[in-house]
Amino acid sequence: MIIAVDGPAAAGKGTIARALAKHYGFHFLDTGALYRMVGLAAIRSGGEPITATAAIAAARTLDPSSFVDADLRTEKVGAAASIVAVIPEVRAALLDFQRSFARKAPGAVLDGRDIGTVVCPDAHAKLFITASAEVRARRRQMELGASDYEAVLADIRARDARDSQRATAPLVAAQDAVTLDTSGMDIGEAVAAAVAVVEARRVP
Ligand code: C5P
Repeated sequence: MIIAVDGPAAAGKGTIARALAKHYGFHFLDTGALYRMVGLAAIRSGGEPITATAAIAAARTLDPSSFVDADLRTEKVGAAASIVAVIPEVRAALLDFQRSFARKAPGAVLDGRDIGTVVCPDAHAKLFITASAEVRARRRQMELGASDYEAVLADIRARDARDSQRATAPLVAAQDAVTLDTSGMDIGEAVAAAVAVVEARRVP
């Protein structure tokens, strides 16, 4: 069984996807981490601003199993990820890994931006997790321990725009996805709502 969890930055999809994987005993893949790895590797090899050549080379040589880096979760690397994610060759290079991961038994939960639309259009359950930009900025500010709320909000808005407006695999809810707006929910409520959606689609 494949569960696709998509949505914008800091909507809670990572937390929900991890909780679903734990609940069902499924494998979990944070596909944003792949794009972050490529963004970081491209900065390290080619400097800034990131060039398409460095990003494509980084994506084609990426070893997702060996890359753990303290810088991966920073806002700078999140922004770099959304820059390299616009490049079709980068997306293509990461596709096979994501699709084979999705086929792992007994099931897999993948979170990202295009899982329900491009990576796994046949996923059994698709969730689109969202929340207002202001709520997401507050959550991200707390997570990062950042002091400047307005700067975090501006980053979130810039990332939303880049992710939604790109030509290849833009951030959009799949037609058959169930949208969950977590703006007024705590983590427990959001996870319970997500489990209810999956239960309704569960393979017997
Ligand atoms: O989810 P996370 O914030 O770690 O993702 C970082 C960036 O990677 C996103 O802003 C997006 O541009 C890109 N991404 C993507 N497709 C995915 C996952 C992430 O384009 N499936």
